[in-house]
Amino acid sequence: MADKRATLTLESDIRYLKGIGEKRSLALKDVGIEKLIDLLYYAPIKYIDRSTVITVADLKRNWWKFSGAQEAVTFIGRVVDKRTLVASSGREIFELTIDDGTGKISCSWFNKIEYFKRQFEFGDFVAVFGKPTIFKGKINLIHPEFDFLTESDSINIHTGRIVPVYPSTSKLKSLGLNTLKLRELISSVINDYIDYVEENLPHKLILKYNLVPLKFALKSIHFPDSRWDLEVSLKRLKFEELFFLQLLLARKHYELKHFEKGISFTKIGELVRRFSQILPFQLTNAQRRVIREIWRDMKSDRPMNRLLQGDVGSGKTVVALIAMLIAADNGYQSAFMAPTEILAEQHYATFLNLLNSLPVKIRLLTGSIKPKEKKEILSEIQSGEAQIVIGTHALIQEGVNFKNLGLVVIDEQHRFGVMQRATLIEKGYNPDVLIMTATPIPRTLALTVYGDLDVSVIDEMPKGRRKIKTEIIPDDEKDRLYEFIRAKIKEGHQAYIVYPLIEESEKLDLESAIKNYIYLKNEVFPEFKVGLIHGKMPGTERQEIMSDFRDRKIQILVATTVIEVGIDVPNATIMVIENAERFGLSQLHQLRGRIGRGERQSYCFLVVKSSLLKSETLFDFEESKAVERVKIIASTLDGFKIAEKDLELRGPGEFFGTRQSGFMKFKFANIATDQKILEIARKEAFEIIKEDPDLMKPEHFCLREELVKRYSDSVDLAKVS
Ligand code: ADP
Ligand code: MG
Repeated sequence: MADKRATLTLESDIRYLKGIGEKRSLALKDVGIEKLIDLLYYAPIKYIDRSTVITVADLKRNWWKFSGAQEAVTFIGRVVDKRTLVASSGREIFELTIDDGTGKISCSWFNKIEYFKRQFEFGDFVAVFGKPTIFKGKINLIHPEFDFLTESDSINIHTGRIVPVYPSTSKLKSLGLNTLKLRELISSVINDYIDYVEENLPHKLILKYNLVPLKFALKSIHFPDSRWDLEVSLKRLKFEELFFLQLLLARKHYELKHFEKGISFTKIGELVRRFSQILPFQLTNAQRRVIREIWRDMKSDRPMNRLLQGDVGSGKTVVALIAMLIAADNGYQSAFMAPTEILAEQHYATFLNLLNSLPVKIRLLTGSIKPKEKKEILSEIQSGEAQIVIGTHALIQEGVNFKNLGLVVIDEQHRFGVMQRATLIEKGYNPDVLIMTATPIPRTLALTVYGDLDVSVIDEMPKGRRKIKTEIIPDDEKDRLYEFIRAKIKEGHQAYIVYPLIEESEKLDLESAIKNYIYLKNEVFPEFKVGLIHGKMPGTERQEIMSDFRDRKIQILVATTVIEVGIDVPNATIMVIENAERFGLSQLHQLRGRIGRGERQSYCFLVVKSSLLKSETLFDFEESKAVERVKIIASTLDGFKIAEKDLELRGPGEFFGTRQSGFMKFKFANIATDQKILEIARKEAFEIIKEDPDLMKPEHFCLREELVKRYSDSVDLAKVS
């Protein structure tokens, strides 16, 4: 066949494919399809099992065979009626009637009625899939799966088999690329090009893990001959996806360890020695252990890339401070990056306090600092006079030039990807990097996002801590809560009352927080000093309020979510979280982590709309999730458990926030459930890089090629080429 096809390859731009063209190719690019091969990797969102298509007449004749059977079946026919019925209970039911030429069958939906009503028009040619039952005296499919067919549908793509359903955007649909069309497109590409697909995994791995060949997997992921084929194909593609990511991480890890020259800090000096004498508490064993691990990295002439994990309150800050003092002792500067200004300010205050009168120059650089002062600080940074500089992200990005930056500490910032290191190196620094995270990352995620980092864990809390008591309070029982707080404050405790502030409704949220503050201050607690803190305040005012709270001049601090991370006032033992259902799990955990820092019993109250707690009204999925979150927090203090649940409830994309999402977007793998595959993939990838770091062995050529294909835009890969 000497047709046009011969000039295209799987790597060709999709717009040259027959029937695509410029416009459609742009819409396809939005969903990640740029080349022909990407179509083959375009994962269906679900499948409809149409391997058993039967007619209504068949069904009636063989009712004994189908009724009560486990198997669902497919009917294909036209929409001849649609209507909304009202059941005797008052509940609405949407009923669709389909005629397949041999008889009629009804389909019924009990919820999202408006949605389903909109889906169907009279005369639509549809396939419906479900288990036939008798309902209201008629043959019925309850909540069937469905999709739309065209008259010309060739029977072997759309029916009589397991059929893929593709994600489609409204843009794609407006250009005629609905799931049906995509199905045809992909089917034709499979027909014409599948033979050109080359295996990208070494034979050894395929044999060892019983993987199916890539060719087979890429065909069967769309048009499987059986459920089994689908399952094994999916498994192979998940493995492949996770494996190549791990291979990238393994390679980066190798480069850091072998090529990049870092700083070798040679001594533990005067500052560290004196600091350990003035420290007001004994370090825990876990803290000692991780300090040793960090010191080992700092001593080595390879750059440190270490993740310091530890639950809220486990004492990461002092560990970081010691690392920064080591740097200072060796004549290097440190940058400490916090995610918010408020937190930077608070760390600055903590450090000043802990360092007492030690001769080390520590500076705060945030957006709220006045220009004149800022200029001064910038010049101290440039001259090397400022030894420890605390600030936000901007610290290493905009116009800040260090004389000799030796260590970067990134606090509470699980969104700081490994890639950002490149920014630093571009600026001519290759400092040691310590990333601290209080959100305990589930192991699977840690392996993925921080897969090229070394990990230290503080798995022990400082002595003398008491378990925080957590209680869910319906919002109509707040009076009781206020009385409790009043009694505790009279005993000398302090309290936080936190209101949600989320981006979408920021203005309204802030207004309501302020209104509540005024109400609490004037009506509920007139005898106490009540303060307000939020992110929109000028920095100086904020610092004043925080220091008043620390000095116990303020007893109750009303706050928006700005205090979520890092704030450390051990005398505060009460945390009230208003509208707790609006917070995410890790946020709730972080907020609760603000208390329980001293030796006295602490209390966390999760205030929830009382109507939400009456569970029989929980039809709304989002609302039931919200209540579930609150219940999880009330049931455990274990940050790791909470993080696992969080991942389960939200999925990895959201867990990490949108900024990180590119890295977390998997087509086939699901980080929450494919942990086992991930661990195998990781083990194999790291072994291969260890044995053949440049992937020069003939059996690894396929890996090198694929790695460059997949991650060509990642930094550092130039070295593998
Ligand atoms: P996080 O890990 O959440 O950042 P912090 O570093 O803020 O925790 O520490 C929480 C509190 O515990 C702080 O008040 C800190 O001074 C205190 N702390 C840290 N280490 C110890 C220790 N070994 N013994 C007693 N208190 C400690
Ligand atoms: Mg901290």
